[in-house]
This record gives sequence, C-alpha cells and structure tokens, in this order.
Amino acid sequence: MAKKKETFETILDFANYFRSEKFCVQYFIKMRWNGEVTCQNKECFHHNATNSGNKVYILEDGESFKCNKCNRIFSYKVGTIFENSKITMKNWFMAIYLKTAHKKGISSVQLSKYLKIRQATAWFMLQRLKHVVDTNMFKESFSDTVVEADELYVGGKEGNKHVDKRFKDTKAVVLGIVDRNKKEVKTFHVKDSKYSTLGQKIMVNVELGSTLITDDYSAYKTLKNFYEHETVNHSAGEYVKVKRLRKGLEAAKIHTNNIEGYWSLVRRTIYGTHHWVSKKHLQRYLSEISYRFNMRFISNSNKFVDFVSKVEGRLKYKDLIAAV
Ligand SMILES: [Zn+2]
Repeated sequence: MAKKKETFETILDFANYFRSEKFCVQYFIKMRWNGEVTCQNKECFHHNATNSGNKVYILEDGESFKCNKCNRIFSYKVGTIFENSKITMKNWFMAIYLKTAHKKGISSVQLSKYLKIRQATAWFMLQRLKHVVDTNMFKESFSDTVVEADELYVGGKEGNKHVDKRFKDTKAVVLGIVDRNKKEVKTFHVKDSKYSTLGQKIMVNVELGSTLITDDYSAYKTLKNFYEHETVNHSAGEYVKVKRLRKGLEAAKIHTNNIEGYWSLVRRTIYGTHHWVSKKHLQRYLSEISYRFNMRFISNSNKFVDFVSKVEGRLKYKDLIAAV
C-alpha cells in the first residue's frame, strides 16, 4: 500500500496530524537531528562534529539526551526558540501553522483565543517566531542570476519621490535586492546610502559575477568591478532597455521594475497597516514582509516544515525585551 502523504494543508488536517504532544515532540526531534543528536555543549559540539561517534544517548522519557563525553543531560529544546518555555510543542506547532498560513499573520489576541492561552504568552510566542524570520531568512546568497537592487527611504510622511530621495537624510534607508530567477527578495535596514554600506551588503548577498541592475545612483558605480552591472537612468526618462547577457542567461530587460513594485508593497504595508514603524523595529517588519512575499507560492504544509527547520538560535530574554 502506498504510504500516506504527509500533508496538512487545512487547519483540520493540521490539528489532526499533530494531535498528540508526544507525536509533536518526536516529529521535532526527527526533524532537528534526524537520528544524529548532537551535544550542544560547545566543546562537545565540535568533538561530535568531527568524530560523529555514538556519544549521545536518548533517555527513557524519549525527550532528553545524555552526552557520554561531558555527562550533561539536555532537552530536545536546547538552543532553539522553544527553550525555557513551558509551552507545549502542540501549541508551538499550531502557532507556527497559524502564523505561516495566514496571509497577514496573526495577532497575539487572535492567537491567545485560538490556543486558549494568556495573551502575554501568545505575545511571547509570536516574538520568538518573528525572531526566526528575522534571523534565518537571509542566509543564502543569490547566485548565478540577474538581480535588481534599489533603496527605499522610509519615515515621516508617505510620498517619497524617486528623484529627490537621495536628499532625505532623516529617513531610514532600506536596501532591497530582487533575484529575478528565484523571484525572491531580501531587504535590509542599513545605516546610510553610501557605497561602503550598500556595496558591502550587495557583495555579501549576491554572488560575484551575477548580473546586477540598478539605477544610476553613484553609490552603485564601483560594483561594475564585481558584477555585470547595468544601469537605468530614470532622470533621463530611460526605463527599459534590453541587453543580451553572457551564455546561460536569457536576454535581460534592463529595468528595476520588480524592486520598485516591491517597494509599493512595503510602503502600503508599513504606512497602511502599521502606520509608521520606528527605526528600531523596521528590520523586523521588513523581514516579515519579505518572508510572506517569498513564500507566496508555497503550500501551507511546506511553509510549516520550512519554518520548523529554522527554529535553532534562541532569542535570549534580554534581547527580546530590548527589541520590543
Ligand atoms: Zn557533551
């Protein structure tokens, strides 16, 4: 008989699939370590990574492990956003499902009602989940592709005009990069719009040798040493031109319409939904918006699985309080 496919598109499927706490815990353990549990003690971590011997044993409860080298006992939650909370995995999983499946996310009030938990607890959970999106979305750089890069200046009143945007010193600067092949976007709240700042971010996030399209802002000029750099001169009324690219890539239309279209989404979200977000919170909002945008064609099941695979890297309580 064919194995039943693991999907949980609807909330009913999901609740049914993850109905027991024990199952949720085992699901997470399997997903996190897939049979190769690693001691999280720093020295051991290194040791196990190089020797991969059977140094870690599972304890009777099925949820804790003992390292045979340092003798420490640790929980499956160690080093993840689930650490040091008494919240059940069932509730964590449901919160992740609701957060990722809802187009506009979920508020702590809604979450507390769905899970029958205190609103403070729901808020705490959502902060930890936001942290995952904030820290884990941007690790892979764009490679062998055509990207568009541009800056957005936010703050104060809506109505940034493209032409005078360079002079708005008091505004927060956001750098955006769109990968045309992957149809994904990355956005960064950066300290200024100088070459050293924008160039460095682009170089970290776009593999050298890719094709880079920007407007003719001077901060991007030196990037031609690292990328096939094409520019659009908006002030000269130039919007689209076509260029035949090197082998393997299709002819590219030289424009920055994708990133500019994305900026209108960001503006609508920031000014429409949140009114205005302080500079301190801006990166989190940007990360949330790009997370939803990049995941727009992914099924609910896959969104959930993808999210759970990224929960390592716990937000410390003091950082959490400082950040909100
Ligand atoms: Zn150890």
